Parts: sequence; structure tokens; C-alpha cells
Amino acid sequence: MIPYGRQSIDDADIQAVVDVLKSDFLTQGPKVPEFERRLCEYTNAKFASVSNSATSSLHLACMALGLKEGDCLWSSAITYVASVNCAFSCGADVELIDIDPQTYNICLNSLGEKLKHAAKKNALPKIIVAVHMAGQSCDMKAIREMSQAYGIKLIEDASHAIGASYAGKKVGCCEYSDISVFSFHPVKIITSAEGGAALTNCPALAEKLNLLRSHGITRDPDAMTEAPHGPWYYQQLMLGANYRMTELQAALGASQLRKIDRFVSRRAEIANEYTDAFEGLPIATPQLISDAQSAWHLYIIQLKLDEMSVTHLEVFEALRKGGLGVNLHYIPLHFQPYIRSRIRGVKQFSNAERYYGRAISLPIFPQMTNEDCDAVISLVRDVTSG
Ligand SMILES: *Cc1c(COP(=O)(O)O)cnc(C)c1O
Repeated sequence: MIPYGRQSIDDADIQAVVDVLKSDFLTQGPKVPEFERRLCEYTNAKFASVSNSATSSLHLACMALGLKEGDCLWSSAITYVASVNCAFSCGADVELIDIDPQTYNICLNSLGEKLKHAAKKNALPKIIVAVHMAGQSCDMKAIREMSQAYGIKLIEDASHAIGASYAGKKVGCCEYSDISVFSFHPVKIITSAEGGAALTNCPALAEKLNLLRSHGITRDPDAMTEAPHGPWYYQQLMLGANYRMTELQAALGASQLRKIDRFVSRRAEIANEYTDAFEGLPIATPQLISDAQSAWHLYIIQLKLDEMSVTHLEVFEALRKGGLGVNLHYIPLHFQPYIRSRIRGVKQFSNAERYYGRAISLPIFPQMTNEDCDAVISLVRDVTSG
């Protein structure tokens, strides 16, 4: 079975983790700040705060931005559940926005209309989470302009998009957002096994992210409300969590980050090969916006069912049977019973639903061989022209 995604681990990665195991610190040592420094160097963001997952980093981002009961967060109807669960974790409400059928990212027209409508009803969200689906950045200039006009905070869920660029800058630079979040889950671009990061250019947000990730506790006397009782003293300033990343994870992440550009260019090579090979087949291939370079976390095709004699399910099953670990990213959030029961407002999104009936994620990861690619191409050709 060729999986849809897979990590690439080499001897240097293994050595980096082994070195930590032999060192004094398994957690709260030098590797976490080193990984954070490297993430800043790579993205050009001023601050990075890593955690044990992107899910945790999204929650931290929402807490740092002050999201609470009575507030609302908006995000795309097609994303992973974590993009909105961060709001529920803060006791806030969620509303969804339909996708653009070409880029699979949030639809700018729908967003603009919804904002106008919400402004009139005094029902604007506190936060918008822009998800960079499959690794391609949203049109952040446009989204920034809209959110700024209404004073809404902006989080980039860049879980798919470390290594991608937008408007000549690396995704994660936070030029157009308050906070950007990366995931280091093994199927993503680089991995720390489990892990995430929240990046920002705002010193106050960076400080909050760091505090909240470790119980809300500080050891900085200047930040305390009372004089320290002694050298042992620490003070809890607010309610946080323990979302810390271990030293083993940070060492692996830092080692992986050295190879990111190679990973992304191999992904792009595979994507280009697919797109060329699928020309003429009853398949819509990913549409790219002009000002961006995707990190190609996913390669998602959409079946042109009206030109085919087989169904979406039949194609999916035939690809699986033929040895491809194809997948479907994602089930529309409003089809998830839990989320459906909690979202407010509209619960029907025609582009997202149409996408869900046609989309398939094909294998794409750096260590795919040319033979693997050829096998994918020929099976897709067989199955879709049948
Ligand atoms: C993977 C993913 C997450 C969650 O990442 P974890 O590190 O597994 O918590 C959040 N949002 C999106 C869009 C993702 O793909």
C-alpha cells in the first residue's frame, strides 16, 4: 500500500533524538528554544512558541487572543476538526463559511457577505481561522483587509503549509495575521512525532502563548503580583495547560527543519507530474493562485462525475483495492454530528458538500519513488476512464 502521506526520517534525525535521551534534559531544556529560534529564522516571524500539537497551539492561540464564552470564531467548512474545536475549548461559538471550489480555501465572497451581514446584526466574530488547505496559502491580503476593517483577530491554521510561500514571504511570517499555527504530525511537511507551533510578531501574544502552555506559571519576578517568597518561588498568573513539547520532539523537529526545502521541492515535483499526467482525464486537478507556492501537503483531485460512468465511492474503493492509501480531506465540519450540534447559523454549504462528493487525496510524500508515482498515475488513469 502506498500511503497518502508518510514521514521521512534519516540517520541525523535519529541521532538528534538519541543525543537528547543521553542528555540531562528530556523536557524543559535547550532544544525547545533552539527549535523555536530556527522556526523564527526560517519563517521570519519574531516569536515562536512550540507545543505538543497544532491542536494545542490553536487552543493556546485562541486563549492568548482572549476568546471566551459569548464570543464567536469563524472558519472554513472544509478543514480538520481542530480548526474549530479550539473555539469550543474556550467556551465560544463557531460559525462556518463555504469554500472556494477551485482552491478549497475559504470563499472570499462568502466571507465578505457574511461579515457585512454580521456587522449589521452586531454579531461579528472575535477570531477568523484561515486554513491553508493542502498547503496553499489563502489570499491573506484580502482576508486581512476584511478582518481589519471590522477589528477581527486573524489566525492562520498553517498546519499544511510550513514551507509554503505567499506574496514572496514564507507562510508563518505573520505579515497578515496575529498568529500562525503549524503542525508537526508525521503526515505533515516536517515532523516532531506529535507537535505544533504558534508564531507571532506581537511580544505580548508571545508571552501569553508561553505562559498558557505551562500552567500560566511565571518565574519572572517582574511579572508577579507579589514579591517572591524566595528563590524557589513561582506564581500562577492565569489558568493555563501543560501543552509543552518535549526535548526529544524539539530535537527531531529542528533536525527535520534543516531538510524542509528539499521535502517541499520533491512534493512539488510529484504534484507537477500528476497534474501533467492527468490532463485529459475526467479529473479536476488543484488550482493554484498566482501569488503563492504550495507546500503540497496534499494532492487533492476532484472527479468530474458527469463525465464518468463510475461513482466517487467506486473510484475511491478501486484505488484502495489497487494499493493506494487514498483518503478524503475532509468531511465537511457541518456533517460531523458533534460540530453540527454546536455550530450556529447556516448549516448547509453547497461548495463544501459538492467537494465532499468528489474529492480524493492521492499519495504525496518526499520519499515516493518515480515508480510509486507511475503506479499512482496509471491506476488513476485506469480507474477514472473506466
Ligand atoms: C493536522 C491538522 C491539525 C491538527 O494538528 P495536530 O498537530 O495533529 O494536532 C489542525 N488543523 C489542520 C488543518 C490539520 O491538518
